This record gives sequence, C-alpha cells and structure tokens, in this order.
Amino acid sequence: MRELIYTGRWTAEWREAADPKVDGAGEAIVAPIAATTCDVDSQILAGRGFIEPPFAIGHECVAQVIDVGDEVTTVLPGDIVVVPWSISCGTCDRCRSGLHAHCANVPHMAMYGAPLGGSWGGLFSDLVKVPYADAMLVPLPQGLDPIAMASASDNWSLAWRLVAPHVSSRPDMSVLVIARGSIGLYVCDIARALGVGDVLYVDPDEGHRALAEQFGARTLAETAPIHQGFDFAVEATGRVDQLALAAQSLKPEGFCESAGNHFQPGELPLINMYLNSMTMRIGRDNVRSNIPAALELAATGKVDPRAVVSHVFDWEELPDQLTERHSKPVFVRNPDSGS
Ligand SMILES: [Zn+2]
Ligand SMILES: [Zn+2]
Repeated sequence: MRELIYTGRWTAEWREAADPKVDGAGEAIVAPIAATTCDVDSQILAGRGFIEPPFAIGHECVAQVIDVGDEVTTVLPGDIVVVPWSISCGTCDRCRSGLHAHCANVPHMAMYGAPLGGSWGGLFSDLVKVPYADAMLVPLPQGLDPIAMASASDNWSLAWRLVAPHVSSRPDMSVLVIARGSIGLYVCDIARALGVGDVLYVDPDEGHRALAEQFGARTLAETAPIHQGFDFAVEATGRVDQLALAAQSLKPEGFCESAGNHFQPGELPLINMYLNSMTMRIGRDNVRSNIPAALELAATGKVDPRAVVSHVFDWEELPDQLTERHSKPVFVRNPDSGS
C-alpha cells in the first residue's frame, strides 16, 4: 500500500509501505474512501507545524472496513465508518469518563497524521490500522454523504462541541466567531441550525465570509476588540493575537472556546480578561465523545457541511492537489474497484 508523506513546505509524495494486517483481536483495517484536511494540516503544509517532516499526514476520513479481529463486535467488513483523529482504547478510566484524547493505554498525543505518541500512520493512506476498533470507529448513519462528513473525524465534531453545548439552551446568545477555515464555518452552520440569530464571523478570506453569510452570519474581514460585545466567542485561527481579540470582545462573565494549535507564542491581555471576568477553554478535543451527537445533528438535515467542501478530487490526485492550498479538499476513492 501507499502512504501520503508530507516531505516539506507544500510538498507531499506517495511512499510504499507494508500492508497493515490484523494482529490483535480488537483491531480493524480500514480503507479511507473520503479523506480531507484538518484546518491544522494547512499550517503543517505551510511549514508552520512543530514536527519535522517527513511523516504520514491526514487525520480526517470516512473509511470502509476491510478486515476485523475476532473480538470486534461493532463493525463488519464493508461497513462505512468515521475514524476519529486520536487513538483511544475506550476502556481505561480516562476513556470511560470521555477523555479520549488523553487515553491512558496509549502514549500521550497518540494520533493519526502526525508522529506524536507513536507511529499510527496517516488517513491519506491506502490502508489504515485501527488498534481499538470497537472503541474508536463510529458507523456513518444511513443517508449521510461520506464527502460531506469526511471531517467528522475532527473539525466537524470539534465545531459541534465548540458551540452546541453553549447555545442549545440559549439560542438568544450573541456569538463571535474568529476563524480561518472549516471549523469556524461549521460553527456558523451549527449555530444557525440551533436557532442562534446573532453571529458575527471574522475572517480575511472572502470565500469563507461568503459561506458564513450563507449560514446566516454577519461578517467582517477583520476587527478590533469589540468591547463587551458578545456573550460567547469561538476562536479557531491558531493565532494568539486573534485569541486575545476574542477574549476582549466578551460581555462580563462571557465564555471563549479556542480550537487551539497556537504554534507560535504570544501574549494574552490577562488583566483585561480578569477585570471583565471571563472563562476560556482551550484543549485537545475528546472527539470520539462528540462524533455521535455531531453526526446526529448532520442527519437532521438542518446543517449543510457539504457546502464547506471546496473541491472533490480523485484519491490519485493527493500529492498534487493537497499541496495547492485548497480550503477544504476531499479526496475520494472506491476500494472495491481496486483503486
Ligand atoms: Zn485536526
Ligand atoms: Zn483509554
């Protein structure tokens, strides 16, 4: 099989690797059928990540199950599943309390698409081993499009977690979204679906702003801190100055969710944050906990994650098109046809 290897700034190539096999009774082998970029992949491809290449990239996909071990009970070969970005066992104390990103049975940071906490490969590979199939894999509900849901591994489900728990009981909230990619757009879509009427989306990208407007948000290319402007803010830029902007745009006792991945250091206006009293949450998403609810919302048809997909390419185009700075490209293939 081949793995797509990130080799340096805006370059990637196929490399041959041994086909993964089921070695343990709880494992599965899957073949991605629709894989896409996480917003953080754009930063990695631009050379702004903190891990030196080369490594297998990709951690968002819907896949077809190819083979399962004897003890796997929740999926069968042929099933279409969402593969979470992080590796988790499902049985340790942390997993059982929903902290899948901090599973105690795998090394810290174990994930697909970056050589952190071991070598688990990337989801832009022809075949992928899933070490804890029952715990990790989530069947894609009937009727959902793998292309639209390729991001359920991470960004779509993360976006659900960033906004839904805050606004579902309070759709009258005013919401600020400062973003640079798919996460912020999904947040706008989900907020609107949950009845939020007041969303301001801030992003210099004109195409992203047009989509956010389609999702009912007001938009700005940039903004200064909006003093006591919003009940709730989401920051998904990977830039500390933008997180500072979000933190200074809240009403007293406001809440800010950050999608994290601030690879460069920076300063936060702690005294202003203190004087206005705010709560900020920043942390690696326990995505496996959120995938079912995020898929459930998608299945209602009240949201349109397909609209965020910027391009659909054939799997064979991965090395050429992944490096072309597309906003949210999805790469598709049919493993049954041998491609
Ligand atoms: Zn990600
Ligand atoms: Zn665990």
